[in-house]
Amino acid sequence: MIFKKKKITLEYTVEKCSKCGVEEKRKYSEGDVLFSQCSKCTSCDGMMMIEKIFGESLEQ
Ligand SMILES: [Zn+2]
Repeated sequence: MIFKKKKITLEYTVEKCSKCGVEEKRKYSEGDVLFSQCSKCTSCDGMMMIEKIFGESLEQ
């Protein structure tokens, strides 16, 4: 008998400001591309760059 566990994967995107170095972790959204500039930094007027995209899997 094989039991199948439900697994959900949560994907996160880490953005980093190229100017002041502030990091922000948020949920991955479609269209996020590694090392692309996506939004403005909230602490300075620099641009946030996607530094890391990673997934965490949870078992339910
Ligand atoms: Zn900044």
